[in-house]
Amino acid sequence: MVIKKAYGCNIQDVDGNVFIDTTMACGAQIIGHNNRLIRKIGKQIKNGTVYTVPNAHTRDVNLCLKKHINPDLHSEYIFCNTGTEANIRAIRLARAYTGKSKIAMFHGGWHGGIDGLINSKGVPLTTSELIKVLPYNDEDCLNEITPDLAAIIIEPVQGSNPRSDVGPFLQKLQKQCSDKGVLLILDEVMTGFRLSARGGAGLFNIKPDIVTYGKILGGGFPIGAVGGKTKIMETKDVFYGGTFSGNPLTMYAAKLILDTIINKKYIQYKYLDSLGEVFRNKLNSIFQDQKIPMQVMGCGPVNKIVFTEKFIKNKKDKDKLEQQNQEYFYDRLRLNGVLVNTNRIIQLSMSHTTKTVDKIINAAYLAVKG
Ligand code: PMP
Repeated sequence: MVIKKAYGCNIQDVDGNVFIDTTMACGAQIIGHNNRLIRKIGKQIKNGTVYTVPNAHTRDVNLCLKKHINPDLHSEYIFCNTGTEANIRAIRLARAYTGKSKIAMFHGGWHGGIDGLINSKGVPLTTSELIKVLPYNDEDCLNEITPDLAAIIIEPVQGSNPRSDVGPFLQKLQKQCSDKGVLLILDEVMTGFRLSARGGAGLFNIKPDIVTYGKILGGGFPIGAVGGKTKIMETKDVFYGGTFSGNPLTMYAAKLILDTIINKKYIQYKYLDSLGEVFRNKLNSIFQDQKIPMQVMGCGPVNKIVFTEKFIKNKKDKDKLEQQNQEYFYDRLRLNGVLVNTNRIIQLSMSHTTKTVDKIINAAYLAVKG
């Protein structure tokens, strides 16, 4: 599929077919495509798009993050161009600060295409040996948190099994990290500015040592950001630079979206939460009434359809219990006018309405029947 244009929650391919977009740029477009904010960006384009020398917007974004989002963290963030890059920098910072090399992540977690954190050909064994994989949403992992770890990186809500019942697990994890002298890196690339203005940290009351952002913070432009406690951010001699890092176009867009979030202009988290709930409640009722062995799970506006009716507590359960004929379902869904990305995460945005949600549900029901 090749896309020609996108507007609101609609996406159109080069052949003129229009779909309801449930991908929304992997969650980055929380307001909607071609939104009012994006149209203001022209003002910065006239002043130049990249200088590779610090610009005034970066200072404003830092001030805003400090004042409204993370008052407990240092006043200067590290800016880069993607979520992947932000996590690479966060891990490097954690290693530099602690003087340790080992990192732990969770099964089912996604932090970008980082050597050692992904299963892929071409990853040298030496990088994988520095990574420990822990069971997610499972208290057994707590005993595996050992002082030789520099940090644990975790998404507060995993894209692979988005759920809202992980608060107690995250709290215990935070305590164990602090007891063992292991830094907690909260990867809020997907959840930041999406689950709440303060992301998953706000929703579950988590105070990470290091936090990473991406997606929504760029206001439609490529971004990554790393924040942390002052003593950690002040670690000397850690390399972060890059030609497009903190470029004025992205930083201007970040400033606009933060202003929108803080002043509740085009983004209302109550609306996004209720839309997610309506979607899950209605579709789950259909699955139950029709005795279809499926469910939809999620947290706020982040959803995933699961091909088993059984309770799953993490991706390991999901992989074990799901039926495997999913491609057919997603092909049918697309034929019924709904586009779901290959990561299968259904991201609702401010441009989706209860009517759009009904259309997605109807298309899903028809796809199942098909
Ligand atoms: N972390 C998480 C939790 C993500 O969801 C993603 C993107 N899907 C990344 C990191 C990587 O971000 P990017 O694609 O911008 O490199």
